[in-house]
Amino acid sequence: MSSDDAKGDATRLIHTGRDASRFGGAVNPPIQRASTILSPTADGLYNTPKSLYGRMGTDVHEVLKEGLKTLEAADYVQLTPNGLSACSLALSACLRAGDHVLVTDSAYGPTRRFAERHLKRMGVSSTFFHPRASAEEFGALVRPETRAVFLESPGSLTFELHNLQSLLPICRENKLTTILDNTWGAGVYLKPLDLGVELVLQALTKYVIGHSDGFGGAVMTRDRKLASELEAIAQDWGLSMSPDDAYLAQRGLRTLTTRIEAQGASALKIAEWLEQQPQVRRVYHPALPSHEDHEIWARDFTGSSGLFSFTLKTRDQSELNRFFEALKYFGFGFSWGGFESLLIPCDPQLKRSECSEWANRQQGSLMRVSIGLEDIEDLKSDLDQALSAI
Ligand SMILES: *Cc1c(COP(=O)(O)O)cnc(C)c1O
Repeated sequence: MSSDDAKGDATRLIHTGRDASRFGGAVNPPIQRASTILSPTADGLYNTPKSLYGRMGTDVHEVLKEGLKTLEAADYVQLTPNGLSACSLALSACLRAGDHVLVTDSAYGPTRRFAERHLKRMGVSSTFFHPRASAEEFGALVRPETRAVFLESPGSLTFELHNLQSLLPICRENKLTTILDNTWGAGVYLKPLDLGVELVLQALTKYVIGHSDGFGGAVMTRDRKLASELEAIAQDWGLSMSPDDAYLAQRGLRTLTTRIEAQGASALKIAEWLEQQPQVRRVYHPALPSHEDHEIWARDFTGSSGLFSFTLKTRDQSELNRFFEALKYFGFGFSWGGFESLLIPCDPQLKRSECSEWANRQQGSLMRVSIGLEDIEDLKSDLDQALSAI
């Protein structure tokens, strides 16, 4: 059952890591809840390539890694307990005391905090750059001690895209290691390693697990040296993923393309509809022609997922409360990519530096929605009546 020659992601993700001769023929791998894995002989404890300690992984972790290699067109995968540890691991793998890193101003908040707090303690300085920086603006930020660039496309909450075609040549010229947080496209709609990015990472917690019931992260690469750096730091920090979470993530990969396509299709229709509503100032969804980076999206991405944001014109708290209280199907909750629709007001967590137009919040009230698998007409009418309540 080889998936190597299949063209589509769906076929490959369904067949990768499956083999009738493994696991007694069961379609799915077993969950081995193991710390101790016995060796038949004392000598074997030290002379086997096999993992004999659960922290190093079990069969279910191997199956997940095979799936993720397929998804991101990678040669090496390092699993982490959650998405944030994938971000911090990737940054740590290419930085040492005295180095400088360029981090997109639109990075996931805790990634930004890791740079500002932990990397600083470790003697690494950071500069946050505008996600829409031109080649020239970006190049001007590179210092002799700059070693790495952290990208996230689209950016968290505000959905700017990087022009990778203009930034990556500058990274190569200056020998900067590039890292991209690919959680939004989930590896389905953007293949950063194909575009020349060196480390791609995902919060598997979002679309891969897809059911809001587990945590996972992964950093993927084609570079053997970077892979061994990742492995060494994961060992030193003791990073591991629980077998139950690894099981949920490998199971999520089997249905990932179908879920994200359905959620993405509903999200785009809802985004188009929201654009027409008088209470809405702007919709931030890269697949809309009105989005500032729509051409980059059309060039680099093959589709769009279910997460986007919009601003309401009103900034009046009691009007906003009427909107929130009227919603029936949108839960208020962090995380995203699950089967259920969610909405969060973003202003309290929007952290942007002076380089960004979001530094002064004069754009209206920013809401982020994760569109789930409910019937689209129900979601639309829910938003419709909540907007009217304003
Ligand atoms: C949620 C998220 C993370 C962190 O994932 P956790 O599993 O919650 O630690 C990282 N990057 C992005 C873009 C995210 O949305």
